[in-house]
Amino acid sequence: MARIVMKFGGTSMAGMERIRNVAARVKHVVEQGHEVAVVVSAMAGETDRLVGFCKEASPLYDPAEYDVVVASGEQVTSGLLAMTLKAMGVEARSWLGWQLPIRTEEAHAKARITDIGTLDLMAAMRSGQVAVIPGFQGVMADGRISTLGRGGSDTSAVAVAAAVKADRCDIYTDVDGVYTTDPRIVARARKLNLVTYEEMLELASVGAKVLQTRSVGLAMKEGVVVQVLSSFDDPTQDDLPGTLIVSEEELEAKLKEDQMERQLITGIAHDKNEAKIIVTRVPDKPGAVASIFSPLAEASINVDMIIQNDSKEKEETDVTFTVPRADLARSVDLLESRKDQIGFRRIITDAEVAKISVVGVGMRSHAGVAATMFKTLGDRGINIEAISTSEIKVSVLIDEDETELAVRVLHTAYGLDAPVA
Ligand code: ADP
Ligand code: ASP
Ligand code: MG
Repeated sequence: MARIVMKFGGTSMAGMERIRNVAARVKHVVEQGHEVAVVVSAMAGETDRLVGFCKEASPLYDPAEYDVVVASGEQVTSGLLAMTLKAMGVEARSWLGWQLPIRTEEAHAKARITDIGTLDLMAAMRSGQVAVIPGFQGVMADGRISTLGRGGSDTSAVAVAAAVKADRCDIYTDVDGVYTTDPRIVARARKLNLVTYEEMLELASVGAKVLQTRSVGLAMKEGVVVQVLSSFDDPTQDDLPGTLIVSEEELEAKLKEDQMERQLITGIAHDKNEAKIIVTRVPDKPGAVASIFSPLAEASINVDMIIQNDSKEKEETDVTFTVPRADLARSVDLLESRKDQIGFRRIITDAEVAKISVVGVGMRSHAGVAATMFKTLGDRGINIEAISTSEIKVSVLIDEDETELAVRVLHTAYGLDAPVA
């Protein structure tokens, strides 16, 4: 007998037929004698719809009320799944975020979980009752509802798994695992049987939305065993091959056993959620760059890629950087309001950009990964507007219209394409 947390995403919960399919899968696991908690997302498209209502109600909506509205999608699906399970003869009940409770810090729309009350949850699970928990939501110290940021149900699931010391956290979604790149963009993407926490964390943080970044960080920190699986396969079939997230040592051991070489690049991700800002003719003197980025930092705006051009006359320089697209207007407002202090000429923005990243631990010990990337894109006439690197990642900023092409040619260039069937 094992203790298992099962998480089902939006597509898996979209409509009663799919919820019945989810319930059948949960029932199958319960019948094997396991203790089960289920974490669910809102139906696909529902959170977007609710966010749309908030924007319509007021462009500068109150974040506390935003959380009240957007958390409702998961309340609906958790109730529906509990009902469906009961109708199938499986003991179940829903536990809303405030009921367990799932406590979070004070940060509406992007709260972190601080701790989870497990007393009632463990008692329910031990008695054989399935605990159905809405993902994405929590409660703050003042009793108000909070949400965890888009894609946050993954983090809810991992946090519940850590709290109840689950043997496994199975993340069921609309693809059957983590691929070398988004399989909806590259038909020849390959499924990875194993991926390390570190590489998954990097892939998620640069746009592979199959898992929320925080969920991977939390799983790594807490040692939660995470598996990504399809919810569309036969619900009664056991041991479906998905992707298991493992430690570096586990991966090395498996490669040795199979006498396989490690791939230089593990995966490629793209992100269309950034926007580029160019601040022109900034004085080239100490403190100038700080005067641009300090106000952004104070406003909690995350700056990602940064380039500062060499100034020709050593007097003025252009500073280029990216911010989340959602923060573009606010960033420009902030900088314009400090135009005199910073002393720039003008601000140029471009929201039609995409960041393409290649990720792989192999690049620690191999030179030439970045050069291959630049040459491959150059050969296709794709212009690079900004570059950033980390120990296991190279990212470039390009025109949004060239996203699919860039991902496809890089996938081929790094030898990641699946063999033609
Ligand atoms: P859920 O609603 O189940 O949380 P998401 O839409 O958040 O599902 O995440 C699954 C989607 O992630 C897939 O449909 C796929 O298009 C996308 N995706 C992006 N990168 C990858 C990748 N490397 N491997 C698998 N899926 C990926
Ligand atoms: N429903 C939320 C969203 O769409 C959370 C999730 O599905 O993970 O972002
Ligand atoms: Mg998701």
